[in-house]
Amino acid sequence: MKILFVSSEAVPYSKSGGLGDVAGALPEKISESADVTLITPLYRNSAKTPQGIKKLYEFKVRISEDELNCIVYEAEKKGNFRVLLVSNDLFFAREFIYGSNEREYHDNFFRYLFFQNSIVQFIIKEGEGYDIIHLNDWQTSLLPALIKEETSPVLSKSSTILTIHNLGYQGIFEHYHFKDTNLPGYYFTPESLEFYGKLNSLKGGIVHSDRVVTVSPNYANEILTSGFGAGLEGVLSHYSKKFSGILNGADYNIWDPENDPFIFQNYSAENFNRKKENKISLFREYKIPFKKETPLVVAVTRLASQKGIELLMNSINDLRERDIDFIILGTGEKEIEMNLGKLEKKNPRLKFFKKFDEELSHRLYAAGDIFVMPSLYEPCGLSQMYALRYGTIPVVSSTGGLDDTIDDINGRAGTGFKFREKTSSALSTSLLEAAELYKLPSEWEKIAMRGMGKDFSWSKPGKEYLKIYRQLIKEK
Ligand code: ADP
Repeated sequence: MKILFVSSEAVPYSKSGGLGDVAGALPEKISESADVTLITPLYRNSAKTPQGIKKLYEFKVRISEDELNCIVYEAEKKGNFRVLLVSNDLFFAREFIYGSNEREYHDNFFRYLFFQNSIVQFIIKEGEGYDIIHLNDWQTSLLPALIKEETSPVLSKSSTILTIHNLGYQGIFEHYHFKDTNLPGYYFTPESLEFYGKLNSLKGGIVHSDRVVTVSPNYANEILTSGFGAGLEGVLSHYSKKFSGILNGADYNIWDPENDPFIFQNYSAENFNRKKENKISLFREYKIPFKKETPLVVAVTRLASQKGIELLMNSINDLRERDIDFIILGTGEKEIEMNLGKLEKKNPRLKFFKKFDEELSHRLYAAGDIFVMPSLYEPCGLSQMYALRYGTIPVVSSTGGLDDTIDDINGRAGTGFKFREKTSSALSTSLLEAAELYKLPSEWEKIAMRGMGKDFSWSKPGKEYLKIYRQLIKEK
């Protein structure tokens, strides 16, 4: 079985959020049972330029009327697994992956159309074909239509599967971009790519892929409703037979306090008392004047309204007289960054790191006592799984994948605190409950250790994806 896994970001080459983590782990996991090629753009500034990459192909790619140069490099090859990078410096040698915190790059449609057309050309050039082409999010969602319109037999043997990591990002562009795809006119209809007069990339992927998966069972149900479907609930319901939810996994090769090279003091459930060294060292390193006895709440997050940052800011303000400290690591929407900066200035209990910093994120998962994630919606969420592994007890809103992964403290096998109403007062109540329990170290440790013992590795989701691949091959 040959799989081509296509993603606009993948760790360690690039990362803006959970998609990067998933594409950095799932394909390699699947390569234990199949031949897997991961293909992703070569960004030169937002990621390390990999050493020792090998040029495989160079060819022209047609976008609208232009012929653009594309080079495909091989960056890694071990056993059944290899990584290819698609390069064009005009599109991908930039400071950011998708754009700055003020605006997305104006030519994102062209950038990812180029990426997708390059993949079509690459498959034809290579000449062997793939049984499965696994797509991720809107940046790769035009591929099923582009592939259908190619006549080459190496493409017709493939089945396509699309994973939706976040329905909030659909790749909607002005109607006049449709002609740049060179697809026949009948694709621009409400049954296909058209969405209220515009071109909706993700919708195209849902309609034309053979299977559609999203990243947790709960979110798969939620997005069939108008409250969460972001306008695509009707399309998803129409295609519900080919649609399901598979919970993402955590890569414990990277996210495990026992072997994490970034943290000050490694620890595990066997020596949980060592965890606190991470808090002490963090405070020392960054000259943070918090007391080590006070519960420390951390958040590591994109600063987008989806993540419930508004609720969090209100709660931090409400709880300013209480004995609870907060550290937030995040970047994103300019306005949220500014508001957090202002809150930090008037609230000595808040430390805000305004940056994207992989290393510091590990240190915070290790240093925190409580991990807060008050998302308004959450397709899966990986951060809360990492927090569990680091013995940092999550406080989460009960939505999407957060609901699937965290068991409420009031149940028999609780691992965290869940609140239902998406209000700052509900969040504050949960944070206060957590702070109360923190005063009982033996109770606290019992729950933290229960979380550390949870297995959210990629083994199970990997098997579920393999099962779908096999079904698709059988159906072909
Ligand atoms: P999403 O994909 O919606 O951003 P997830 O919880 O699935 O949310 O994944 C977020 C990933 O991005 C995690 O690996 C988290 O640690 C990381 N992350 C988010 N913000 C930052 C940041 N400012 N610095 C470093 N890592 C971050």
